[in-house]
Amino acid sequence: ATPTAVMVASGLGASQGVLIKGGDALEKAHKVKTVVFDKTGTLTVGKPVVVSAVLFSEFSMEELCNMSIAVEASSEHPIAKTVVAHAKRLRQKFGSSTEDVHDVDDFEVHMGAGVSGKVGDRTVLVGNKRLMRACNVPICSDVEKYISENEILARTCVLVSIDGKIAGAFSVTDPVKPEAKRVISFLHSMGISSIIVTGDNYATATAIANEVGIDKVFAETDPVGKANKVKDLQAKHQRDSAKEVTRTVAERAMEKTDRRSQLAGLARDRGKCSRARVLKRRTKMKGMSVAMVGDGINDSPALAAADIGMAIGAGTDIAIEAADIVLVKSCLEDVITAIDLSKKTMFRIQ
Ligand code: ADP
Ligand code: MG
Repeated sequence: ATPTAVMVASGLGASQGVLIKGGDALEKAHKVKTVVFDKTGTLTVGKPVVVSAVLFSEFSMEELCNMSIAVEASSEHPIAKTVVAHAKRLRQKFGSSTEDVHDVDDFEVHMGAGVSGKVGDRTVLVGNKRLMRACNVPICSDVEKYISENEILARTCVLVSIDGKIAGAFSVTDPVKPEAKRVISFLHSMGISSIIVTGDNYATATAIANEVGIDKVFAETDPVGKANKVKDLQAKHQRDSAKEVTRTVAERAMEKTDRRSQLAGLARDRGKCSRARVLKRRTKMKGMSVAMVGDGINDSPALAAADIGMAIGAGTDIAIEAADIVLVKSCLEDVITAIDLSKKTMFRIQ
């Protein structure tokens, strides 16, 4: 696109809450073939709510709450924020002040898994099954049952282990954005496929996917895994384009075969070569790109790897920085606004 066309489109986008950082994303957005969606904070509202808290050991609810608050208070994750708020409310029932927070030492973030730290002389882990497994915390059948019962309801379980034993858990629900289903089905009608890529577990992700009409789920991925999935899709689209070229050339050659003499055949072979080149050039121009929509720090490698990285405006600064396009209103409808804007720009100038 010409610099003027890009400027016009950027201005138009900005007035609609779609910030476009450069001409490159604008040029690629009209040929999106797949949109990769992060789950938490992208497809879902990103304001999770605790719906239950249970105990699995001799520790009391008050102790479970104190330990969870101490570790989660240092985390930026939306799950951490809701666990802290809920645990503080629960704790009030035992007469503790809402502001009392135990100190935490050796605080550590386990990307896409949870957090850990030392509270007094106790080692506390707060996170998912993967975190517990990585730290050799056994999960008994009672805990497994609690997890699977909640996951089929699209809830995420936050396990809390104290000194190597599961002490309790919180179940968290995060409703999907009201426009999510409509946007996915509109994308599908445009011939654009969709996929969820999430750090959360497979069962929860599948329940969310079913709710919004996405049929491909890639779960339990770390930030690098998310980026690799984007790259895999890009490679697949490239192979598909190449296949399309080969097939078209082969079909055309077949059609002509019976009504040509040997002499004409030679000419045809020459023609076929240049025809293939033309088609290849055309398909390359047409291309097929991959867009990624995300909001978290954990999405930034994937946002950078995608042909078009789209950050949710309410997301973290790092995601916004890594993206090519920012959806200021945090509304998924604007994924379509961005694609439309690109189409208008490209078809006006071509
Ligand atoms: P998503 O890819 O859906 O945005 P994340 O990669 O941020 O999710 O997190 C994946 C999973 O890791 C969460 O669903 C949760 O189970 C766990 N997790 C991450 N951070 C925390 C935390 N601070 N407290 C509890 N669980 C966490
Ligand atoms: Mg997220």
